[in-house]
Amino acid sequence: MQILDGKALSKKIEDQVAKGAKTLKDETGRTPGLAVILVGSDPASHAYVGMKKKACDRAGFYSVTHEMPADISQDAIESTIKMMNQNPSIDGILIQLPLPEQIDTTKLLELVAPNKDVDGFHPYNVGRLTTGLDGFVPCTPLGVMELLAEYNIDPKGMNAVVVGASNIVGKPMAALLLNANATVQVTHIYTKDLKACTLNADIILVGAGVINLIKEDMVKDGAIIIDIGINRADNGKLVGDVDFENVAPKSSYITPVPGGVGPMTIAMLLKNTLTAAQAHAKEA
Ligand code: NAD
Repeated sequence: MQILDGKALSKKIEDQVAKGAKTLKDETGRTPGLAVILVGSDPASHAYVGMKKKACDRAGFYSVTHEMPADISQDAIESTIKMMNQNPSIDGILIQLPLPEQIDTTKLLELVAPNKDVDGFHPYNVGRLTTGLDGFVPCTPLGVMELLAEYNIDPKGMNAVVVGASNIVGKPMAALLLNANATVQVTHIYTKDLKACTLNADIILVGAGVINLIKEDMVKDGAIIIDIGINRADNGKLVGDVDFENVAPKSSYITPVPGGVGPMTIAMLLKNTLTAAQAHAKEA
């Protein structure tokens, strides 16, 4: 069993991005800029945005967070997005999810200029991903693909089972694996026999938000296990969706939580923002 070390790889990628940002600045005078929209006081959202801001600082990016109260109107957020779309010092726009109930999230995601959509949530970029064209890809599944590539794991021909089918994790994960020529099965809360699916998998990628969802008897010997879940256990510790202690000995490769997919997500956000800045510099 080998650990897939997302912490180490994300550090390597962050260093490369910082170098890329410096080169861009030296050659064009442009500093990559990220705008974050943060609504309400959800502690997890604040923690994630704080981590993203620190990562921007480390990479030499400019970043700005638009903090808004939970009872903010749809119009007010839309105005901010429109402003950021026009602002030449902003290359990437990120709307921290989830948003309060009164807000139409889809409408906001559709308002972000596709060439600043560094989260890859705009239907334009979703469409490009599913047709195998270049575009911004959601950071978490993109980070998983980078992690696999770092360890020379090629999903081509593998039976891949994705557990969880959200727009930000499961669906783009499945699209990337399909584009990489894996045979992909997507499972979710209504899947009748999850174990029957996972037992057949060469690689299991789970992002459901359920502690210990993937247990030892659901995994075949030598399977690759990618744990995308982030949950807070009763003892306050961060844990994934996999019963790591019992599943790890059966696996060939496995991601830890923390230190697996999580740090890769932030590294991919930086990478996407640098890509956007490089493209905008060319257009200017
Ligand atoms: P979500 O609630 O939007 O989607 C969860 C998905 O899991 C749904 O498709 C649901 O049907 C499925 N699911 C739930 N319970 C299930 C069960 N018992 N069996 C099978 N499928 C089940 O959540 P999300 O935003 O996609 O996030 C999923 C998990 O990934 C969460 O733990 C979240 O914290 C984590 N996450 C991690 C990162 C990262 O950087 N590592 C990024 C985003 C989300």
